[in-house]
Amino acid sequence: MIYLDNAATTKVDSSVMNSFVKVNESLYFNPNSPHQAGLQAEKLLQQAKEQINQALKLNHLYDIIFTSGATESNNMALKGIAYRKKDTANEIITSVLEHPSVLEVVRYLAEKEGFILKYVNVKPNGQIDIEHFKALMNDRVGLVTCMYVNNIMGQIQPIKQIVNILKEYPKAHFHVDAVQALGKIPLNIDGIDSLSLSGHKFNGLKGQGLLITRTAHNLEPIIHGGGQEFGVRSGTVNLPMAVSMVKAINQAVQQTEQLNQTLSSYQQQIREMVETYPGVKINSPEDAAPQIINIGFPGVKGEVLVNAFSKQDIMVSTTSACSSKRGKLNEVLLAMGIPEKQIEGSIRLSMGQTTTQADIDTFKEKFELIYKEIKELLK
Ligand code: PMP
Repeated sequence: MIYLDNAATTKVDSSVMNSFVKVNESLYFNPNSPHQAGLQAEKLLQQAKEQINQALKLNHLYDIIFTSGATESNNMALKGIAYRKKDTANEIITSVLEHPSVLEVVRYLAEKEGFILKYVNVKPNGQIDIEHFKALMNDRVGLVTCMYVNNIMGQIQPIKQIVNILKEYPKAHFHVDAVQALGKIPLNIDGIDSLSLSGHKFNGLKGQGLLITRTAHNLEPIIHGGGQEFGVRSGTVNLPMAVSMVKAINQAVQQTEQLNQTLSSYQQQIREMVETYPGVKINSPEDAAPQIINIGFPGVKGEVLVNAFSKQDIMVSTTSACSSKRGKLNEVLLAMGIPEKQIEGSIRLSMGQTTTQADIDTFKEKFELIYKEIKELLK
């Protein structure tokens, strides 16, 4: 099988898995327990956080909270900040490009909790329009949320420019969903107030996430209970998950430069190959992150394409695994002004640490076969 759906999830690295099993077997204690074993677990938890602090160069400026994944991290950060700011700064700025675990949260806050939600315009290259963003900013904005790398098209957002603009607006908290960025492009966290990560996108375990935030005490808890994790994420900390996540993060960070180069080369090869097939269009911008390439086959249905590739043992997806079952035109592609027919016939290839040159070679061969099958449908 050739697996080109790494943006949906990745294969667990065996050393990550081993560390999860090892800690489960030998240090299964509750870090909150007062006895010797509990203290040992608590020490390991703090060590894990310190290693993340080092790996991501956080300079001890952030609190680190282990979560069940980025959906939880995004909910926790966005609701947590918004609820605290409701009376002083109740405007939220985002764009339609965000993952549902951001978009549905801010929509909920607007529809059910009375926040004012504003969407920043999107340029044809899939980046947010910085001039429009400047025009939307004012002193009533308490929350800005923008993803680092888009999960459907791969475009990289101008995070640094947003940070610079926000220097003039101290009330605005800047949240970034960096799920598709870690391990693929160098991350610059300077000036970001909170950041969400998901272990299973970089060869960690599923159900393993992280929220990195300037001060956890600024978040209104959305999960109440025993007060663990600065009081914002009650529940017994999953220490084996936390320790194995450190391994996944370390590997992702150490491999970034090499993986970026390798995947950029694969992406270039796919682009050059696709360009030789009349009627097939590349949707992703040229300067997208290296692991994601979105391709349009106007006139053909996305599901038909996914099945055609699947029959050849190649796993690709239509939009993102989270929204591909919803059956409506993808908002990200719509916002970029891609024609409807092309959106309907779009697939996303996403590569990762386990993708090889042999995979790309086979993909190219099979692509030719599939093209012959569907070319009559192309418009
Ligand atoms: N944000 C982005 C950009 C994603 O791609 C995903 C995963 N599809 C998520 C958030 C949600 O992550 P998780 O599966 O860890 O909840």
